[in-house]
Amino acid sequence: MNILILGSGGREHALAWAIRQNPKCDRLFVAPGNAGIEGVARCVNLDILSGADVIRFCEEAAVDFVVVGPEAPLAAGVADALREADILVFGPSQAAAQLEASKAFTKEVCDACAAPTAAWARFAEAEPARAYIREKGAPIVVKADGLAAGKGVTVALTEAEAIAAIDDAFGGAFGAAGAEVVIEEFMEGEEASFFVLSDGTDCLPIGTAQDHKRVGDGDTGPNTGGMGAYSPAPVLTPALQEQVMARIVRPTVAEMARRGTPFQGVLYVGLMIKDGEARLVEYNVRFGDPECQVLMMRLGAQALDLLHACAEGRLADARVNWADDHALSVVLAANGYPGAYEKGTVIRGLAGLADDSHNKVFHAGTAEKDGQIIATGGRVLAATARGATLQEAHDLAYALAHSIDWPEGFYRRDIGWRAL
Ligand code: ATP
Repeated sequence: MNILILGSGGREHALAWAIRQNPKCDRLFVAPGNAGIEGVARCVNLDILSGADVIRFCEEAAVDFVVVGPEAPLAAGVADALREADILVFGPSQAAAQLEASKAFTKEVCDACAAPTAAWARFAEAEPARAYIREKGAPIVVKADGLAAGKGVTVALTEAEAIAAIDDAFGGAFGAAGAEVVIEEFMEGEEASFFVLSDGTDCLPIGTAQDHKRVGDGDTGPNTGGMGAYSPAPVLTPALQEQVMARIVRPTVAEMARRGTPFQGVLYVGLMIKDGEARLVEYNVRFGDPECQVLMMRLGAQALDLLHACAEGRLADARVNWADDHALSVVLAANGYPGAYEKGTVIRGLAGLADDSHNKVFHAGTAEKDGQIIATGGRVLAATARGATLQEAHDLAYALAHSIDWPEGFYRRDIGWRAL
């Protein structure tokens, strides 16, 4: 089978690395890809937000199966265009991608299927939103309704902070994404992520993970796209996973089908866990980065069979072949990230590193220039390893990270601390 993956981050490198290992994969393309992905696939330059461009390439290169990595092409309807052109695709329709693209939509779906989540209200104007905050008090959470690259959420510890967030959103700080605002009850607990494939009818869990969003050791400093992750997440016990499937995931999938917009793809279920009960924080409609790196490290070649069964509506008969193992990923970012950082610095020491089924440095933001690997983004590499225990995976991943010679980059020293 000839396969095209859309995207250019560490997530797509991990997907390509796992898919490449499956003997059913003939030719593998990634658009646009990055310097690390060049090692396992052919990178092609396409406008991945244009269904027409992607379809044209699929026809030229005889692509049988498209895997969509990031949310932007999904929200732009690229999966719909591919389905209309009879090209098999992994990823939800534009209508089903609303589960990530609109927080109010997700809350309505939760209400319709009685899935446990924070109490909420939506506002299209500032004054009623301010009045609601004064009535409820702090702590309280204010969210721009639409996609705001993780920046549209304020967990406000005081009423003043919450009101400032309302003023920001209605003042245009998030553009159209902030035209509506969702205000939520603050939930306490431990966060974890649960990944479930859905073919529109049937669901298959494919792993759990926890990530570290803050830039600094001890979970301090500003939020980032993710500084590291590990899988499995011990807090998501098998019993709790079954609870989440029964109360949240299956009801959501059934409600989406009932609305005539079945969800096909991966549901990234963000959860808050307290006293043995899980509530939904958010859905994403694609894999997370760096959670995808640890999931793919654990799944390996079977990832292709699972994504393919999902796209073909065959999940009822699909099974995950679980190994009793752990994976951990350490993100290397450019000094200054998530603030301003330098681009184009040279990364050395990658060539001699362990590179096998248990050790892999995934590339998130790199390019090749004059035979050297240079950094092109904020989060640049993800040193990822697998072991029999989380401690072993941790030690292997850090051995990789320490061996990379990149003075202009940094990484957290405590990934996995909560579970170790
Ligand atoms: P990202 O894309 O970074 O995951 P997002 O913009 O989609 O974020 P959410 O995941 O809804 O937004 O919220 C971001 C973070 O804010 C959550 O991971 C969680 O830590 C916190 N958060 C969101 N909602 C609540 C809530 N109701 N109670 C407590 N914390 C919350």
